Amino acid sequence: MAGFLEYARSLPTPTIYDAIRHAHPFPRRRAFRVPHSTLRHFDRLREMPQRLLHVGDVICSFDPVFGQGMASAALQIMALGNLLTERKNHPGWLDGLEQAFFRKAARVVQTPWDLAAKSHFEAGDSNTGSQREYEQFQVLSRRAMEDAGIHRVLVEVFQLVRLYEELRAEQGVAPSTRAALAGD
Ligand SMILES: Cc1cc2nc3c(=O)[nH]c(=O)nc-3n(C[C@H](O)[C@H](O)[C@H](O)COP(=O)(O)OP(=O)(O)OC[C@H]3O[C@@H](n4cnc5c(N)ncnc54)[C@H](O)[C@@H]3O)c2cc1C
Repeated sequence: MAGFLEYARSLPTPTIYDAIRHAHPFPRRRAFRVPHSTLRHFDRLREMPQRLLHVGDVICSFDPVFGQGMASAALQIMALGNLLTERKNHPGWLDGLEQAFFRKAARVVQTPWDLAAKSHFEAGDSNTGSQREYEQFQVLSRRAMEDAGIHRVLVEVFQLVRLYEELRAEQGVAPSTRAALAGD
């Protein structure tokens, strides 16, 4: 504990040290019961029971350390709402809704999934990404420390107001940001 406090005191700003200097550690350690993330590709199934939709964690759940599960579930519900609005005036509007929804849900969960997968990859899980993707992300994160434009874009991706995949083609993003995202 003394070493931990000493480290906090050595940080460039005193904010964390001031917050924890008089704190007491919990007497008992507790671990999250689900220390992994899961993505299920319902969009790739050839056959599905009709008019049965899965939403939320059952499509994509995260190791709680990432804190993306509720936002991911909300994005899925927004996608479902938009889909229902688009279809409601057409005859047979519920036919095929499952596949249309699962394709949209797969798209909206891709960004939080990619962000979580990169951290899993860093921790040694090679099923969750490629070395090249991981290195590109590291370059981008380093550039974000010096380039306010890249930093803003990255924050928007982390806050799930932008899709990660859209950024390379995005006209409103500065060329340096696009180059960094492309790994150039
Ligand atoms: C420790 C922890 C911390 C988290 N922190 C964050 C965070 O900071 N930010 C964030 O965005 N997300 C966080 N999450 C994730 C978030 O809680 C989930 O992503 C979100 O609740 C998923 O919503 P859901 O509706 O899919 O599932 P749930 O919220 O799990 O809802 C499923 C419901 O179904 C009920 N149920 C299950 N089986 C049955 C059954 N057979 N019959 C009837 N009812 C049933 C359950 O009781 C539950 O009420 C955290 C998760 C954990 C575990």
